[in-house]
Parts: sequence; C-alpha cells; structure tokens
Amino acid sequence: MSRRRAIASIALAALCAAPAPAQEAARPRVVILTTGGTIASRVGAPMAAGDSLIQAVPELLDHADVRVEEFSRIGSSKMTPGHWLRLSQRVGELFRAEPELAGIVVTHGTDTMEETAFFLNLTVHDRRPVVLVGSMRSANEISADGPANLLNGVRVAVSRAAIGKGVLVVLNEDIGAARDIWKTSNRRVDTFRSPELGFIGLADPDTVLFYRQPLRPHTTASEFDVSGLDSLPRVEIAFDYTGSDGSTIDYLVSRAPDGIVVAGFAGGRMSAGAGRAVRSALDAGIPLVIASRVPGGRIVGDPLGDLPAIIARDLSPHKARILLMLALTHSQQVDEIQRIFDTY
Ligand code: ASP
Repeated sequence: MSRRRAIASIALAALCAAPAPAQEAARPRVVILTTGGTIASRVGAPMAAGDSLIQAVPELLDHADVRVEEFSRIGSSKMTPGHWLRLSQRVGELFRAEPELAGIVVTHGTDTMEETAFFLNLTVHDRRPVVLVGSMRSANEISADGPANLLNGVRVAVSRAAIGKGVLVVLNEDIGAARDIWKTSNRRVDTFRSPELGFIGLADPDTVLFYRQPLRPHTTASEFDVSGLDSLPRVEIAFDYTGSDGSTIDYLVSRAPDGIVVAGFAGGRMSAGAGRAVRSALDAGIPLVIASRVPGGRIVGDPLGDLPAIIARDLSPHKARILLMLALTHSQQVDEIQRIFDTY
C-alpha cells in the first residue's frame, strides 16, 4: 500500500469510528406576528397571508424555530388605537403562555411602525425582545428588502443582548429604539433613523451587537397597564402653521376630545390664532400637550408661562399623542401628566 493510501484509509477508519454528532441543540423559539404592510405585499397582487412571508425566507430556520400568527392583513395607515391595544395584549398573552419563548417579531407597515413600536414599548411588560420589521420595497420589486429585514429581525429577537432593551425596530441592518426612531424618507430603504440619539445597535451579517441602551423607562419599568382596556382615551392632533386662525383647534374642542396635542413651531411657539385657541381649549378643561413640528432638540422650560399646558419636550407630536392617551388612563392632572412626559 502506498504511503498516501495508507494515510487515507487510517483517516476513513477514524471517521467511521467517530461518535455520532451530538443531538442538534434546540433552536430558540420565536413567534412572528404578521400585521400586513409592504413587507407582505407584491405590486399588483393582494396582500399575502402571514405564513407566505416566512416561506420565502427559509434561512429563518437556521436561527429559530418560528411560528407564524396572522394578527391582521392591513397597510399600517389603517392601524388604529384598537389594533395597538389588541396587539399589545396578544404579545403579553404569548409571553405569559410560553416562558420558553425567546422573543416576538412583529411584521408591520413602515408608515406607522414607530407609533405601534412606541405603544408596545410602554405597554408590554416583559424583558424579552419584541422586534418590529417592515420593508420599503414589495416582495416582487428589484432588491426587495423584506426578506433580509425579516431575517435580521429574527436574529435580533433570539439575541440575548437584545433582552431588556425595550421594543426595537430593525430595518436595513440597523437597530433602533422604539422611542427615538422616526420614518424619515418616503422612498429609501434606510428610512428609519434616530436623528438625535442614534441607533442603539447593528444586525450585521456576523453578529447582532449593541452599543447603548435606552434609559427612559419601558416595558417592565413602565407604569402603564392596558391589559384590561378595550379602548383608549381619544386624543387629536392639530398642526400649527403660518397665519393659522386657530379654527382647527376650535373645531377639535367642539368635539370634546379627551385630549389634544398641538404640533407647534420650534420651542413650543405658536401662531397668534393657535395661541388664542389653545387658551380656550385649556379654559374648557381639555388636557393639552404642546409638541414641536421640528424633529430635533427638545422644548425647554415652560414656553407658555402660566398656562396649564403640558410640554412634550422631544417627543414627536404623534408619539406625544400616544403618551397622552396612556397618561390619561392614569390621571387628568396637568402636573402628573407633565411628570409622565418628563419621565418617558
Ligand atoms: N403602505 C405601507 C404601510 O403599510 C408602507 C410600508 O409598509 O412601507 O405602511
């Protein structure tokens, strides 16, 4: 026998004698709750059922044992506070029912993803990751971004590093915190940004890693409990603009909402008309939050002087609306609601 053949047969014998590979380790379990949106869409076709999304990405099974549950099949512009409530309650039920569940991925349209994410961030009481993913391109467009975003969402959901970081938004390999993330582009795949505070981590091809964590209370540290609610206080938003006569705010007041958010100018300043209408809303006893239409920085101090309005600080008007809705489930007191805005 030549020397080379002898070595080959020794190697083969060693291989045959080797013990069978250890039983494959159990993969972490993830539930994917599908709600609709572009990630579930094909141009020219009806929105796809939840499980077809998953069938298109078999690589998911390399990372997790996934179970799909269709929550809804709608564009996110059709989401309502009722959907937020039921989604939050369903996420809570799933976590309670399955202590072994590693995390939950929610597929969602990008238009209102940051609102749903912020609501879940304040109402899901569990440290395990809840990750929202979506896409800017439909499944049959060139360079569709949905499959990679879904895969990365699942990778983040099973990452131990993601535990306790609050609800996360994962698109374009970036990991954003629900409170701080904004949709910033009508078209681009890197639409989600956190312009002031930055992303908190990356879902890179080799690893999921975090650089920082949100310090504002969320999930298990949140004081809001919506588990027994079937509706939320009705809060409207009025947009201020140059030369407004305030009639939009007057109209809202006439409909007696539970609260109003005014999207004013930088620093909480307002047109004369909006200022007049805000005073009459406050006289009517309607809890009213002043937010800024400017995306960067916070409203400092007390720009309305003695007027008993609540200041949104750095929350966008649409996120201020969510926080006001939740705050109103606790209190009608201006000081208490301002404490909530200064805390979350
Ligand atoms: N129309 C879509 C939505 O449901 C947009 C998207 O998903 O990107 O929000």
